[in-house]
Amino acid sequence: MTIFKKIIDHEIPADIVYEDDVCLAFRDIAPQAPVHILVIPRKEISAVDALSEEDAPLVGHIFMVIQKLAVSEGLENGFRVITNNGMMAGQTVPHLHFHLMGGRPFGWPPG
Ligand code: AMP
Repeated sequence: MTIFKKIIDHEIPADIVYEDDVCLAFRDIAPQAPVHILVIPRKEISAVDALSEEDAPLVGHIFMVIQKLAVSEGLENGFRVITNNGMMAGQTVPHLHFHLMGGRPFGWPPG
């Protein structure tokens, strides 16, 4: 069981900013930007490479939630959405998650 599953089950505390029957969103414990929110599915999926066709609506829903959160967090000047897949990308929690980050400029390409 991952730490994110424990957050989903409310077994450990998190600063949850949004929750529905498909996903939840909470503030990253080590924020890398003024706004740094993680949006995760309730379904236990390890990463993008573990997605199947049946998960397509779930991913679409998560992106609509991200869009709403970007508005409610005041990120009209821009934001970044990141998902790390696997060791080389720096994924540390094997539960699919999307980082919504904003409130500062970001460089390109990412490090
Ligand atoms: P990643 O490196 O893409 O797997 O991202 C994992 C993220 O989860 C990191 O940005 C961590 O700071 C964050 N994180 C780990 N544990 C917690 C927690 N208990 N509550 C909130 N964020 C967490």
